Amino acid sequence: MPALERWVYSFGDGRADGSAAMRDILGGKGAGLAEMANLGLPVPPGFTISAKLCLTYLEQGTFPDDLREEVDRHLKQLERASKKRFGAAENPLLVSVRSGAAVSMPGMMETVLNLGLNDRTVQGLVASTKNPRFAFDSYRRFVQMYGDVVFELGKEPFAEVLEEFKRRRRAARDIDLPAEDLQALVHEFKAIIQAKRDVPFPDDPVAQLWGAIEAVFRSWRTRRAVDYRRVHGIPDDLGTAVSVVAMVYGNLGDDSGTGVAFTRDCRTGAKVLNGDFLTNAQGEDVVSGARTPRAIAQLKRGRLAPVYRELERMAAKLERHFKDVQDIEFTFEHGRLYLLQTRRAQRTGLAAVRSAVELVAEGRITPDEAVQRVPPQDLDQLFHPMVDPRAAVTVVAKGLPASPGAAMGEAVFDADQAELLAKQGHRVVLIRPETSPEDFHGIVAAQAVLTARGGMTSHAAVVARGMGKTCVVGATDIDVDPHAGRLRANGRVVKQGQLITVDGTTGRVILGAAKLVEPKIGAHYARLMAWADERRRLRVRANADTPGDAKRARQFGAEGIGLCRTEHMFFEGDRITAVREMIVAPDEAGRRHALARLLPMQRADFEGIFEAMAGHSVTIRLLDPPLHEFLPKTRAEVTTLARAMRLPVARLERLVESLVEANPMLGHRGCRLGITYPEITEMQARAIFEAACRVVARGKQVVVEVMIPLVALAEELRRQAEIVRRVAQDVFHTQGRAVPYLVGTMIELPRAALTADAIAKEADFFSFGTNDLTQTTFGLSRDDAGRFLPFYVEHGILSDDPFQVLDQEGVGKLIELAVRLGRATKPELKIGICGEHGGEPASVKFCHRVGLNYVSCSPFRVPVARLAAAQAALEEQGVINRTKATV
Ligand code: PEP
Ligand code: MG
Repeated sequence: MPALERWVYSFGDGRADGSAAMRDILGGKGAGLAEMANLGLPVPPGFTISAKLCLTYLEQGTFPDDLREEVDRHLKQLERASKKRFGAAENPLLVSVRSGAAVSMPGMMETVLNLGLNDRTVQGLVASTKNPRFAFDSYRRFVQMYGDVVFELGKEPFAEVLEEFKRRRRAARDIDLPAEDLQALVHEFKAIIQAKRDVPFPDDPVAQLWGAIEAVFRSWRTRRAVDYRRVHGIPDDLGTAVSVVAMVYGNLGDDSGTGVAFTRDCRTGAKVLNGDFLTNAQGEDVVSGARTPRAIAQLKRGRLAPVYRELERMAAKLERHFKDVQDIEFTFEHGRLYLLQTRRAQRTGLAAVRSAVELVAEGRITPDEAVQRVPPQDLDQLFHPMVDPRAAVTVVAKGLPASPGAAMGEAVFDADQAELLAKQGHRVVLIRPETSPEDFHGIVAAQAVLTARGGMTSHAAVVARGMGKTCVVGATDIDVDPHAGRLRANGRVVKQGQLITVDGTTGRVILGAAKLVEPKIGAHYARLMAWADERRRLRVRANADTPGDAKRARQFGAEGIGLCRTEHMFFEGDRITAVREMIVAPDEAGRRHALARLLPMQRADFEGIFEAMAGHSVTIRLLDPPLHEFLPKTRAEVTTLARAMRLPVARLERLVESLVEANPMLGHRGCRLGITYPEITEMQARAIFEAACRVVARGKQVVVEVMIPLVALAEELRRQAEIVRRVAQDVFHTQGRAVPYLVGTMIELPRAALTADAIAKEADFFSFGTNDLTQTTFGLSRDDAGRFLPFYVEHGILSDDPFQVLDQEGVGKLIELAVRLGRATKPELKIGICGEHGGEPASVKFCHRVGLNYVSCSPFRVPVARLAAAQAALEEQGVINRTKATV
């Protein structure tokens, strides 16, 4: 460490050594205190020890030589500012020792309050406050917290003794205990520490201080802090700073108190000061749940009204200064208000949108800043109910948050049953080990879907997301027994008919009916999205398989369809039987027979989609049915199919057997089907162009893009494109009219990316199928990854699930290469993406940077992609969020 580096920064008395810009060094809390002091707001004086020391201390167990002396100097300064002396028998200075990292981690690290008390100084406190109850309450709190945090004994042993005292006195609350009990508690607590740690409690305030400083640094590595960082993507090497702050007392009586205030309502965004407070209490009482706090509005009237007015004034000042909604911690001592912390308030998507738009209207921020301020993925919440963040819930298991929102209903373990019950007016949650196309009607009928297996791109996930239906997949703790009609998870059993809540935003599976809050969208959302649309360059399309999806996609602002998976059109009703007939047909004649049945169904769907898209481009992908998803599995399915095909069951079973693949995701799917059975491509091309001609005949515009899936060789594309073009000419000739169309390809295999220059010769456009491209680049099965991929993410081997967040380093490199090679052949080549990543903000931004023309994602994620695209454009122009580094 360089000798002259500075480690300690003071604040208080209207000035500070640091500022809000120094979060890396001071942590959020220290930076906020410094900034507030600079603003002349009433913060108690104190000093912050740099977060830069945290990791070295944790690794080497030592501090720089000059640190003690520096802390000493700042302690002296603090004594002067507070006009009290640390360790003095008269009017003693007490301090709080608080954690705080650059990124806020609420409640994850440690704090010690009332430090500096011993049997001597407590008498000083009694004398200066004339309040023995208060002095001994502070003392017992200090020893209790010190035992928990510094001696690492946890809360339990102390809480037990405290409860015992309350029982004896028949006291409901801690504050009902008399001073002599509190004094006795101090001795009891010290005895616990002596007994368990075999050392006496340190009486020397300076020793106490160093013990607490080290404990706060250590709390960077507690299990919950480590987990929190992992879940929120916070780097492990930031470290926490330590702020030492002169105590102000909220527990001095009924004209004292403590609380937390938000400058706007963080659930709705409404501009009202709100939050909670307690009188005669210290900070931990509000958060610990030991006492029920009161709403801040109750401060408005009565004796404490001046405190409310003061708080309101300061909250407004802080928000004006930081230009963002603030979360403020405060204490009032004999009616005098102090601010202990301010930070950027966490908020729902709804509140994020409303507050950003209103801050523009109030002239605090620009529309550019508003666009950049709302996390795109939070928009998802606007369209779905959420679990009330204040509701207490019992979580039985956690899975992957596959499709956001929350929904509850009766647990049902079978798709038919789900449909039946839904028809009778029940709200149901469909729970399956995994889903397959036969479950589709059950998914449609259910409020939410829960599966034990599968990853983010598993069938259930993709389908549910497309419908905007709440879905959690890969909840591996759950053992689903559909026959018995129950699930087991972590020692609990949920039986058919029992209420269950699925939270697709967080992946939680909750016992019973959790309280939900309904979404409200309106003018604020429209305003923000208008700003976003003016700023973005990327076009945003939707993945939509049915006319209904297409309509919804338009409502969400999709500018076309980037992927219509034609095999998904067969999930409904008995259509799947026709697809199965085609797949298992023993010969071309059988296949043509089945195709003839499929043609009118497809044509009708395409007509509906073209109508709904009103002249916007529609990319229709030719069939890509991974066989395992479509072959009949159960006896009943085989029998139904045999009857339809007029084949003996045994014969059909043999046919099915012959089609079973060891590795269906890499098997006879995609264009390989059309290559070997060109009549399939012919039928689909015919359905597409006939539908287009019909819609055009009704005076509407149609723009068709036919897309060939799973191409590895330019020759595959050439052959398929030739068929499509031949059928188009044929249809146009017969119908006496032509429709503009393109023939392009998906780039979803590494070989296609590597030979994109050759493939571009045959293609009018490219669309990256990043689900398969991820699967094949990693050699990682989309269907099986859910079993082990979470381990990789949990243990930091991968930072994210690559099926959710595009692996820019690997898969992204192939994309960049394919864009370059493709455009070397055709400089104007239109290029998009239609894998699940097309709706994930970081991946959308990547697509912008590498020069794609559009992204395509499920309809509900279209707004997310629009906002992310706008942010990417602003980032490129160097318009960064100019809002003052808010803490
Ligand atoms: C893809 O692979 O990214 C894609 C969009 O196709 P599918 O998910 O249907 O395989
Ligand atoms: Mg694919």
